[in-house]
Amino acid sequence: MQSYHALALFSGGLDSILAAKTVMDQGLDVLCLHFISPFFGKPGQIERWRGMYGLDIVPVDVSEAYVAMMADGPAHGLGKILNPCVDCKILMLRRAKELLATYGASFILSGEVVGQRPMSQRLDALNIIIRDSGTKGILLRPLCAKRLPETEPELSGLVDRQRLHAISGRGRKDQMALAAHYALAEIPTPAGGCLLTEEPSAKRFFPLFLHKPAPTPADFELANIGRQYWSGDRWLAIGRNQSDNARLERAAAPGDLVFKVRYLPGPLGVARPLPGAVWDAAAVADTAAFAASFNPKAMATAGPVQVDVAGFPGSPVLVTPNRQTPLAFAEPTWDAAKEGKRQRFTLHGVGGR
Ligand code: SF4
Repeated sequence: MQSYHALALFSGGLDSILAAKTVMDQGLDVLCLHFISPFFGKPGQIERWRGMYGLDIVPVDVSEAYVAMMADGPAHGLGKILNPCVDCKILMLRRAKELLATYGASFILSGEVVGQRPMSQRLDALNIIIRDSGTKGILLRPLCAKRLPETEPELSGLVDRQRLHAISGRGRKDQMALAAHYALAEIPTPAGGCLLTEEPSAKRFFPLFLHKPAPTPADFELANIGRQYWSGDRWLAIGRNQSDNARLERAAAPGDLVFKVRYLPGPLGVARPLPGAVWDAAAVADTAAFAASFNPKAMATAGPVQVDVAGFPGSPVLVTPNRQTPLAFAEPTWDAAKEGKRQRFTLHGVGGR
């Protein structure tokens, strides 16, 4: 395995590219770690980034650890939406630190800039991140290094501090100048890409934190497909189109109930029984009627239809499609999630962006 001088946290954003380039410019070998979870990560882009930016990049899947951290409640709280930015950085840095020996590297880089984000990149948050990730002295932030204490690679002379930067604040002027200096073929658009910072995704994820003590990465993948409905602790996903149906088919796991109207092509419904949720014959029939109401051909029959329910011994069930069933399935809302967030997670105030 090739060895490297440094491992870099690499999101694919401009700052992470520039941080890696700045250190590579000094003749050092840098391996970029692109972290993957159900909430962020674009493994499909890695080949393109490698070619376009001339970087060595490997994917690092942190899904299990990340979901567990969220379910436990991030120690430093959440930001505006469901983003635990401080704990997220700590988790990534801990994993990077574990990987140092594997690649023969002695330090870690990140593209953070002091003061760029109101919360997670305030100086106190940057210091908490170093303390709690155990990376004191080995975490170099090349874009703002001259505003921070010297790190071990600088003190040892491996990295020339004079050729690092002193960027701070929210402006992008310095980064754009650096991007021009390195003649980047493409400048990524700022931010974006983390589903925990977006209300439409966060409202889909939140009920899982309420209703499943130990959710899995696969649960969040299911929560990110199609229309989402909840009735208490009963959870149902319904496809909006063929692509959703194909994704639902792949996401369905043993133990799930899969609803499909017999003979009449239409959307697929996947219900994942959660601990304590009652899925008796009445609940299955109710859900079948609800799922069938999304099938235009079933609705057009204006009478009972057969619904196959994979995973249910009494399948098929005969039901009349009905959107207003006794279980009263409803889509999760961000307002409800916002309210529940206060009770479910501790809000310390430094966790967000
Ligand atoms: S926005 Fe925050 S939670 Fe999302 S990937 Fe970035 S640091 Fe992590």
